[in-house]
Amino acid sequence: MTDTATPTAADIDSATLRAEVEAFCDDNWDPDLPVEQWWRLLAEARYSHPMLPPSAGGLGYGQSQAALVSLVLAERGVLGPPGGLGRMLAAPTIAAHGTPEQIERLIPEILEGRVGWCQLFSEPNAGSDLASLQCRAERDGDEWVITGQKVWTSGGQVADKGMLLARTDPDLPKHAGISWFAFDMDQPGVEVRPLTEMTGRALFNEVFIDEARVADSALIGGLNNGWRVGNTTLMVERASLGSSGRKPPEAIPGPMGGAQQKRAGDFVRPSAASSGGGVPPVGIDMWWWLVDLARKNGGIGGKVLREELMRLYAMIEINRLSIQRARAAGRARSAAGAGDYASAAAPNIAKLAMSEMHRSFRDIGMQVVGADGMLSGESDAQTGGHICEVALFSPAPSIYGGTDQVQRNIIGERVLGLPKEPGPPRETPFSQLPKN
Ligand SMILES: Cc1cc2nc3c(=O)[nH]c(=O)nc-3n(C[C@H](O)[C@H](O)[C@H](O)COP(=O)(O)OP(=O)(O)OC[C@H]3O[C@@H](n4cnc5c(N)ncnc54)[C@H](O)[C@@H]3O)c2cc1C
Repeated sequence: MTDTATPTAADIDSATLRAEVEAFCDDNWDPDLPVEQWWRLLAEARYSHPMLPPSAGGLGYGQSQAALVSLVLAERGVLGPPGGLGRMLAAPTIAAHGTPEQIERLIPEILEGRVGWCQLFSEPNAGSDLASLQCRAERDGDEWVITGQKVWTSGGQVADKGMLLARTDPDLPKHAGISWFAFDMDQPGVEVRPLTEMTGRALFNEVFIDEARVADSALIGGLNNGWRVGNTTLMVERASLGSSGRKPPEAIPGPMGGAQQKRAGDFVRPSAASSGGGVPPVGIDMWWWLVDLARKNGGIGGKVLREELMRLYAMIEINRLSIQRARAAGRARSAAGAGDYASAAAPNIAKLAMSEMHRSFRDIGMQVVGADGMLSGESDAQTGGHICEVALFSPAPSIYGGTDQVQRNIIGERVLGLPKEPGPPRETPFSQLPKN
């Protein structure tokens, strides 16, 4: 990937950007295209992940410009770029910490949806305290031998690669002896076992790793630098999870995702706004969907319901404006190229707000549909079980990507300067720390 003549973020104004993306869709979208071909077109136009620097297949856009690209793709009714954690997390992490060779080797296949990724961070005894992870990597020539257990691995059952955090030196302090690997999932010694949630589906998995292998050339960001690299992944995750803008529909990338050869148009459903058909994700469009539902169900005349709806509206708007303010501040601070993810506590605050919004949508939705909220799928004629889905899913956002409590700790310690939680001295070697 070269930078030659690629237009970058610099001063492209919203009207020009909107016109460019609209023209791209008008010229290229054909619902009969196979998904893989449409994804290739998006990647060639650099709309697959426009926040990546030009050297990594993006346009160096800030979050607000990238959000506008997403909005226009959604408005044009086209399939969005590859879904999943590869594009969302692995690509920005590799772009920030990988060598040019690693960027060239690993990022294009993500942007074109040729591989799916999962995130192999959490372990049974290392979730909030991620730096306590025990999965170990031992050097063997120009390879590493990996042994350990991961858990809550979203999409692990359809992933070709994993963002693996493993301990490469137990004699260093716990934050210092960790490395970040681009790990092949399809190999002997890797067993993925789906975990069924209360939604009835298995979003995440347990992953057992027994002497599996990863090449030294797949070590991203340098030996024992995994805490720093992993924090880039987490910061991008929090920023992405906290943003509630309108997005186009997505399909799962990679051979196991099963979408590549299918017709792109089959993944695009009519929007709620245009047809009353699909239900938008949590955010302002869903708020309007809920207001319409309340009107159909006897109106929004009740004072309590009206107040709660307005409280939720205010929360969505405040979150939108806070993100916009943080982006502007981030743009002013950020060096050109790498995007503006790391603007103080903004991602943590946005992620907290998103957890709260899910809970509010659950509670107000249940008030609106009453006992029908217990119905799932087709049995609920009103919403196709959507309120039930929101309710069953609502605990998840306050846990994944770091729990609400952990977000508050980070804001307290790193932003407000409050004292840290007591614990062993930070420089204690991991091997000497008490373990569960
Ligand atoms: C839907 C979903 C998808 C996920 N996907 C992935 C994935 O793809 N890859 C991956 O690696 N992980 C994934 N996770 C795991 C997620 O990151 C962890 O569940 C999360 O970090 C919490 O860790 P834990 O479950 O071990 O809980 P624990 O860390 O054991 O926490 C238990 C409780 O104690 C609280 N607590 C812990 N420490 C503190 C503290 N210091 N101060 C105050 N309160 C504290 C927590 O807030 C929580 O309420 C996913 C989780 C969910 C729910």
